[in-house]
Amino acid sequence: MTTVCKEETECSICNKKSSHELIMSTNAFGSPDLDTRPPEMRRSTMIYWVQECPYCGYCNENIGYANKEYPELIKTESYRDQLKNKDYPQLANRFLCNSFLTERDKSYKESGLQSLYAAWACDDSPEHSEMAIKCRERAYDLFQLAKSNGENIFNNDLEDGVILVELLRRMKRFDEGLEKCIKEISKNSNGILKKILEYEKLLIENKDSYCHNVREIQLK
Ligand SMILES: [Zn+2]
Repeated sequence: MTTVCKEETECSICNKKSSHELIMSTNAFGSPDLDTRPPEMRRSTMIYWVQECPYCGYCNENIGYANKEYPELIKTESYRDQLKNKDYPQLANRFLCNSFLTERDKSYKESGLQSLYAAWACDDSPEHSEMAIKCRERAYDLFQLAKSNGENIFNNDLEDGVILVELLRRMKRFDEGLEKCIKEISKNSNGILKKILEYEKLLIENKDSYCHNVREIQLK
């Protein structure tokens, strides 16, 4: 099971204290989604992955820490608009605010991951599920920037190739997805990544943009 504890944190921007829940333990049984979203119970712990200061609106994994540019950045119109954007569930707004800040640090991989988490938060909220595509577009662009800066998103180029194909599929960019998928298949001689890519190819050919997981491949 997931256990959490409450901890009082002093916001490093406004210096006010607020209470936040931290994950003490959780587990993950089963297989992840094709876009790496973990299975339960870790799947349901996303609300603890990002904190929002209730006083100044600063969002970060831990609001007790901030880079020196953040106090100015959280006052910008772009940040304030995102924080209260009714088109997204509030959890997605928090991730997107964190993504906004880390993008300005040029931490493109981290910023992309925060956008991907925002997409998952939208997936979980039926009235906001259309906004998940916007979050994935953002994640995709940031991951591309990270890669052009020589940074890997996951462990290596081959794993990154799979996540980029998966993002294209979930964004319904099927033609681009198919082209990239075929290219990535040719780089992978065997193993699970090749199997995932072959499954991706099938899904893309069927114009399927829904959530799928790795277990479906093992069952095939
Ligand atoms: Zn604060």
